[in-house]
Amino acid sequence: MAKIDLSNISHTYNPNVENPTYALNPFSMTWKNGDRYAILGPSGCGKTTMLNIVSGLVRPSGGKILFDDKDVTDLITESRNIAQVFQFPVIYNTMTVYDNLAFPLKCRDFSKKKIEERVQSVSETLNLSSFLNMPARKLTADQKQLISLGRGLVREDVAAVLMDEPLTVIDPDLKFRLRRSLKEINEQYKTTLVYVTHDQNEAMTFADNIIVMDQGEIVQVGLPKDLFEKPKTTFVGYFIGSPAMNLFSSEVSSNNSIKFNNLEINTRTDLSKIKNKKVKLGIRSEFIKIANEQKDNVVNVKVIRVEDFGNFKLITGKIGDFEIKSKVEREIPISSDNLKLYLPADKCCIYSEDKLIQ
Ligand code: ATP
Repeated sequence: MAKIDLSNISHTYNPNVENPTYALNPFSMTWKNGDRYAILGPSGCGKTTMLNIVSGLVRPSGGKILFDDKDVTDLITESRNIAQVFQFPVIYNTMTVYDNLAFPLKCRDFSKKKIEERVQSVSETLNLSSFLNMPARKLTADQKQLISLGRGLVREDVAAVLMDEPLTVIDPDLKFRLRRSLKEINEQYKTTLVYVTHDQNEAMTFADNIIVMDQGEIVQVGLPKDLFEKPKTTFVGYFIGSPAMNLFSSEVSSNNSIKFNNLEINTRTDLSKIKNKKVKLGIRSEFIKIANEQKDNVVNVKVIRVEDFGNFKLITGKIGDFEIKSKVEREIPISSDNLKLYLPADKCCIYSEDKLIQ
């Protein structure tokens, strides 16, 4: 396994035109040896470009890639010692499942005993043990993808396993189990795993380090908890979480309070140095509670919809022209069209020019 440094990396697919557009704007980042990373973002934000730069399929327009401090920027994929798993299975249909899994080790002259040991271990983790002697072509599409995954995981000596939306063809039940298996494999073998996805649930349940991208920029790197509680930009607040973070255009009214729709809301943010008084208040629907009395940070809301999701209720209300969403326990009765909602000051995030004021 290796530590991977992406140093001042940038990429454009049209370098020779007058004003090239950048699929990746310059960034630097280190992937630690043995950690699990998810690259998360909407379609076209640059996830695959980043992965392909690490694997060597794309040479970056700018910057360097270092594996354990060795510059590999000009090395071809085969010389980088990485394993790749793509969206659709890449396997040898005529070989047995065993031979498919053993192939990456046979090519590198591993002993028969070692090959046997690794194939058994990986096939058990991926529930492929009973298919080892079958020709791979006889397996279903999702089982074939398990073989692809297995071929990536069977080598302990790879610098990293890079996966680009690897569970797309896997059914939802198995997806959940596989993500857990990948985590176990990572914990057991300390394999550096990098996983590209546009699905926040996949990213959150798989990785400790989530790299959120938007339009060629890395907008936040952090734990699922950080992304949820303190999104660094309004984009992250909107993209992560279901429903998206409530965001209200507001104005700074004192050193730590803002006003929206003529309502004064206290925050824990120091707003004394803010030059542009126009800000946004962001608060997760999970943190907004029903209040019984009028006090600071309580707002009156006209209820327009209550949806029962089984394990919670989602209230959608209006404050003037603003729409507000609050997730509450499903047992709480909502009898009136008018509600008081409490916005705890410590859960209010304030954004200036769409960036979190820390
Ligand atoms: P998706 O989730 O849809 O795969 P992505 O986040 O992986 O998207 P990329 O595939 O890295 O995004 O694409 C980033 C940008 O670069 C997009 O605007 C895309 O159109 C452009 N792009 C990607 N590959 C090429 C290419 N070979 N030639 C020209 N432009 C490309």
